[in-house]
Amino acid sequence: MSGPTPLTELIGPVVRDLAKRSGKDLTRWLDQVIRLNGCSEPIRLIGESLTVDTSTGELLTSYNTRAEPHGQLLVRCGNRRASRCPSCAEIYRRDTFHLIRAGLSGGSKGVPATVRTHPRVLATLTAPSFGAVHRGPDKNGRARVCHPRRHEPACFDRHPASDTRIGQPLDPGGYDYVGHVLWNAHAGDLWRRFTIYLRRHLAGAAGLSQAAFNRQVKVSFAKVAEYQARGVVHFHAVIRLDARTEDGTPLPPPEWATVQLLDGAIRSAAAAVRLTAPDLGQPTTDLVWGDQIDVKPIPPGELDDGDELTEQKVAGYIAKYATKAAETSGTLDRRIRSADLAWLRDQGATEHAAQLIRTAWTLGNPATHPDLLPLRLRQWAHMLGFRGHFSTRSRTYSTTLGALRQARIDYRQAQRGESAAGTGSTLVLAHWKFAGQGYTPGESALAASIRTHADSRGTPKEEQHRRSCWPGQRGDLSGEACR
Ligand SMILES: [Zn+2]
Ligand SMILES: [Zn+2]
Repeated sequence: MSGPTPLTELIGPVVRDLAKRSGKDLTRWLDQVIRLNGCSEPIRLIGESLTVDTSTGELLTSYNTRAEPHGQLLVRCGNRRASRCPSCAEIYRRDTFHLIRAGLSGGSKGVPATVRTHPRVLATLTAPSFGAVHRGPDKNGRARVCHPRRHEPACFDRHPASDTRIGQPLDPGGYDYVGHVLWNAHAGDLWRRFTIYLRRHLAGAAGLSQAAFNRQVKVSFAKVAEYQARGVVHFHAVIRLDARTEDGTPLPPPEWATVQLLDGAIRSAAAAVRLTAPDLGQPTTDLVWGDQIDVKPIPPGELDDGDELTEQKVAGYIAKYATKAAETSGTLDRRIRSADLAWLRDQGATEHAAQLIRTAWTLGNPATHPDLLPLRLRQWAHMLGFRGHFSTRSRTYSTTLGALRQARIDYRQAQRGESAAGTGSTLVLAHWKFAGQGYTPGESALAASIRTHADSRGTPKEEQHRRSCWPGQRGDLSGEACR
């Protein structure tokens, strides 16, 4: 979405627009927008919600969107991506931060503080090369000569971080686009195999059978996918060893389960993963992890010793990556239709990303590549072939996003002096229908000015909590819409 039109230019059309759609009830609309707490692409719903006392049959509350402006209720979109909705992405980022940190520091959300003593690392698994690409500054931000070599392709430039050539191939004609798209399309599979191999390699390194290892140790993961500038996905993961317990509480593992054992097994397991790519005549025939596997132990504590990782830093990294999608690699953040293919560059895709999208689209043709149909490459062309989850955690890592959302809902209900919806002696009957998404141009400008006003005033936390939940949003809607 481009920036909103200045309010002064729109005030006439705005009033006409709102008066036509909302009748007299402009204040009601403003109230809804304030409660959206900054969401820029709200979902519009039509429907009703009834709360009934199951012991007496008495109707406790009822809510119907008929009374709302436009006859619709606006709820937060809940989009994870900062490029689509900065406000909802920020809530997602904060939730992710808290649950990653809970899995590292413990002492909250049902995770014991002893997790700090468990072997745990931050591991980064990347893809191999599909052709040389222009390189930016190194990890420490120092500029370096891109590809100083005698043979072609070479590049002797030092690209600053802002250089748009970073990640673009030196020789697009020789780049393995098919191999690249197929790798992204299998990245989730490669990860899944890695987790299976990791348990095997840990058992082997400890001199135990797989069954004996599984009886004693549980491997917990929290991973995020991130796009490198070259348009290939890579994974960052917190990997932790716990003792296997009946109820899943993460307790310290046996003494032989050390961070060295974990480090070695991650490297050997990643090196062992191999999938055979569908043969389309491309140079990349085996889908494997690249050599650049990074494993860093996460020490306990909050002390920041320069480059050293801290629990806080790791939680911050993972949470930040969780709200990014593929757009950092120069692609588009929406699904592609065939009509878009001729205009990818005009819509903001780099030439490299556009070529990857076209490759995915071609490979996704069911007539010519029926065997690739399960990869759903057309549906995921804008993601350059990757269709996996951006952020996943194993069940025992820490709490879940759903649990955090429920905690927020319970908190608001407690504030209003209500019991949790659908539990105890109350039953919530709700029926909702999707009616659309986003604001009209007039509403968008007004909503933007409300957001600016709220930001500059610095709304207190409790007030934000109160505002972000609409009294009608309960029951089966609450988990999704009322966050
Ligand atoms: Zn939103
Ligand atoms: Zn270069």
